Amino acid sequence: MNPLYAAMAPTIFEVMSARARASNAINLGQGFPDSGAPEDVIAEAARALTHASNQYPPMRGLPELRQAVADHYARHQGLDLAAEEVTVTSGATEALAAAIFALVSPGDEVVMFQPLYDAYKPLVERAGGVARLVTLTPPDWRIDRVALEAAGSSRTRAVIVNSPHNPTGALLSAEERRLLADFCISHDAVAICDEVWEHLVFDGAEHVPLMAEPGMRDRTIKIGSAGKIFALTGWKVGWMCAAEPLAGVLAKAHQFLTFTTPPNLQAAVAYGLGKDDSYFAAMRATNERSRDRLVAGLHRAGYVSLPCRSTWFVTVDLAASDVAMADVDWCARALDEAGVAAIPVSAFYAETPVTHVVRLCHAKADATLDDATARLMKARSAHHGL
Ligand code: PMP
Repeated sequence: MNPLYAAMAPTIFEVMSARARASNAINLGQGFPDSGAPEDVIAEAARALTHASNQYPPMRGLPELRQAVADHYARHQGLDLAAEEVTVTSGATEALAAAIFALVSPGDEVVMFQPLYDAYKPLVERAGGVARLVTLTPPDWRIDRVALEAAGSSRTRAVIVNSPHNPTGALLSAEERRLLADFCISHDAVAICDEVWEHLVFDGAEHVPLMAEPGMRDRTIKIGSAGKIFALTGWKVGWMCAAEPLAGVLAKAHQFLTFTTPPNLQAAVAYGLGKDDSYFAAMRATNERSRDRLVAGLHRAGYVSLPCRSTWFVTVDLAASDVAMADVDWCARALDEAGVAAIPVSAFYAETPVTHVVRLCHAKADATLDDATARLMKARSAHHGL
């Protein structure tokens, strides 16, 4: 067996979801919404399933989806991508794997920021690369110039950037984008930009892709996911955008991972990406409301949340909430004593974790959020310390 996988524990999301199912708890752990998928997009998939081809689509994706992704980013983010620069993948996860395998040779170094999405480090290590970690800390989770410079070397091949950021909901500032661009340019490195949360930004904020930063157009791989945009996480339709010669190498990595992605789902996503601005505005507003509802409920229960500017997640600062307990212990007790599953943010650190922050998913029905926060409130008054 490959020792990397043999020694690996199952992901925290699987573990918490399984425990939530076993104890019939409210699952605010794993990030999936319980409603909100647009019916017309699903109907389009059903139509394509019945009336269009079910055979292998082109390896790099259906032409209409590649064009739709390029058009979508022109309309929403001012980018000038050609359809040929888009490769369709089976979710952002496959795009991340393809990008890492396409770039990283044994001994290469990849800079990444923790808390980190759990797939990054194992994928880099499976490619024989070395993860160079830069630690972000609450409440701002900002990138420190000195720490970033210290993580760079002559072996730096790539930087993995996740903005909007899971689990913190933070967005890169203009200064941070420039800092990252300068770092990539001076190290002749590629930015792998995981932007799956790009449409879920709140309070009038705007997602600005790193690819738009001067000097980054040809050294950025921009990754997106229909799962987040359309609240259809099970579909696993994603994409990666990059200029040549990167695009060609990405396609070669993709062809031996999944080769293609179901054509009917691709057709439906192409349709969905062309939806009116009103769809995207309404989707944001709905998510902003659910964020506010969870934050207000947590507050009533005595918990202090950290600023959440994007994503489906709210984070709670346990220390600031007078909870003298590590995040892992709080999550275990919240499950047992309140019947609410959450995720300890320490699970997103590969080393020296921050241990006083937990993550809860707000993309749920009002009644579910209210029930969860009422349970937490009750448990907090009944059980010492929670
Ligand atoms: N990157 C980040 C930061 C994510 O939060 C997720 C999903 N939770 C993914 C990648 C994976 O996306 P997909 O389901 O499209 O593979």
